[in-house]
Amino acid sequence: MKIYTQHKTRQDLAESAAERWFKQYAEDFDEWPDKKEKYEKLKALNPITPERVNEIIDNDSWTTYKCEKCRKHSDLMIIIESDYLYRICASCIEKINRLIKRKQK
Ligand SMILES: [Zn+2]
Repeated sequence: MKIYTQHKTRQDLAESAAERWFKQYAEDFDEWPDKKEKYEKLKALNPITPERVNEIIDNDSWTTYKCEKCRKHSDLMIIIESDYLYRICASCIEKINRLIKRKQK
C-alpha cells in the first residue's frame, strides 16, 4: 500500500483532460466515433476551462477528483493506493485526525 498527496486544481484537470481522454479511449476511436469527436473538441478548446470540458464530456468526472468520504472536490487529496485507489480530502483527514487525538487523551 502506498500513501501520498496529490495537488490538482480543477483547472489542472481540465488542462490535462484531452491527453487523459486520448490515453483512455484512443483504442476505441474506430468503434466509438463519439469518443474521437469528444477528443477533437477537447483538443481544440481555447481557452480551456473546467466548465467547457464538462460541457463536452457531459459530466464533471474529468475535472474533479471526489473525496471518498464527503464526495467533494478538493485541490489537496491524500491518496491511499492498494488494489484500489482512494482519495481522501484534507478536511476529512483533519476530521480523522481529531478522532485519533480524542482517543489518545
Ligand atoms: Zn472529504
